Amino acid sequence: MSFDADLIIVGGGLSGLSAGITAVKEGLNVILLERGEYSGAKNVSGGRMYVHALLKLIPDALERAPLERPITKETFEFYCDNKKKLTISFEEKEKKNSYTVLRAKFDRWLASEAESLGLLISYSTLVLNVYRENGGITLETNRGVLKTPLVIDASGVTSIVFRSLGLRRFTPDKWMLGVKEIVKTDLNLPEDEGEVRTIVGLIKGVKGGGFVYTNKDTLSVGMAVTFDSLPKSEFPAKDLVEGFRERLGIEGEILEYSAHAIPYFGYKNLQQLYAENLIAVGDSAGFLINDGFTIRGMDLAIGSGIIAGLAAKKIIEMKDFTKTNIYYDMLKESFVLKHLELAYSRFELLNKAYVLNTYPEVLCNLLSDMFTVTEERKTLIDDALLRLKEKGISLSQALRDILSVAK
Ligand SMILES: Cc1cc2nc3c(=O)[nH]c(=O)nc-3n(C[C@H](O)[C@H](O)[C@H](O)COP(=O)(O)OP(=O)(O)OC[C@H]3O[C@@H](n4cnc5c(N)ncnc54)[C@H](O)[C@@H]3O)c2cc1C
Repeated sequence: MSFDADLIIVGGGLSGLSAGITAVKEGLNVILLERGEYSGAKNVSGGRMYVHALLKLIPDALERAPLERPITKETFEFYCDNKKKLTISFEEKEKKNSYTVLRAKFDRWLASEAESLGLLISYSTLVLNVYRENGGITLETNRGVLKTPLVIDASGVTSIVFRSLGLRRFTPDKWMLGVKEIVKTDLNLPEDEGEVRTIVGLIKGVKGGGFVYTNKDTLSVGMAVTFDSLPKSEFPAKDLVEGFRERLGIEGEILEYSAHAIPYFGYKNLQQLYAENLIAVGDSAGFLINDGFTIRGMDLAIGSGIIAGLAAKKIIEMKDFTKTNIYYDMLKESFVLKHLELAYSRFELLNKAYVLNTYPEVLCNLLSDMFTVTEERKTLIDDALLRLKEKGISLSQALRDILSVAK
């Protein structure tokens, strides 16, 4: 059977482009299919990228990529009720480990890098159906039919290739809803400084949290919450980000609104990552860490894309398309699966119904007691035990939870 390319990549977001760049650098004949008119048109992120994986892909990216601001300040805000709030802030000037990005700009730039290296990208090409045929994979698109022996599914959380072949189900119970606005506002910040605010407890009922990121001259304001908690939310899904922004008192012109599903499986619940002729990367593989401190999908998308491109080269050289486990073996040795595994205990903790509602309140009450002087005074530990007991949490449970954060 004749094939149209050594490798076809479905999806031109960060994972697909990283796989494509790596594969063309390895000398493979690759086609990438993207349904958007350009890369970045359909992609959503809060917008904080840890750049270690990007620097592996493009070593001088810090000088050339359209990065917004380096993150030099981290702020966590826990709202206990409308009277009490706990804030922790940490600053580290000149830090260059993570940057805010705007995907419409960033992905478009990465796609132009890929094209200049020889990657053939077919835009406005929607993959509609996928099936196996004569030892290869046939992809039906709105612009015709393509055949290949190897496909990298980089189509994001909906995972069109694996799903069409019956290897995935739609699993909204394992997804979060991400909603985000870009707000034009006056930022009184030096160019080489940026802030991430992570906010928990401001909107009652939802399981998840919110964020505010500083870009060059805009703010990214958004929330990531589990779908199953939406019926209990103070605001309907369509008004969630607006309600959040208004409560924070952020004003300015709304330049953009977007909503997108976020995979939230956790390491032990990851779905199938490879099959004969097939590899899944990025969100399509479920690679996302949301551990309460930060959301990370972009560095995992780039990292898994690079590994998929390298694995594709080996598989194609061997001419044995049953050997896609090579990809998994390489992933196991990489930061992608190692970091996902490390984050699992925090994933489990955040999934316990009481955690996000109870601990911020216990902490706030404890701090309120600390800063209140009357004739009655308890030791801190007695007060902590009392505040935990009020919420039905034993000391041993609290210690176990603290340990799982530290893991
Ligand atoms: C609100 C929100 C906030 C987030 N915040 C952060 C953050 O601060 N930091 C971070 O690291 N991560 C964050 N993430 C996660 C991050 O955005 C994702 O993990 C990352 O975008 C995954 O990249 P990807 O290339 O795998 O998938 P995607 O970016 O979803 O790309 C998939 C591509 O496939 C294309 N496609 C889909 N179906 C088809 C089809 N049938 N045919 C052809 N093309 C198709 C799409 O158009 C798209 O371009 C956030 C996500 C959301 C939604």
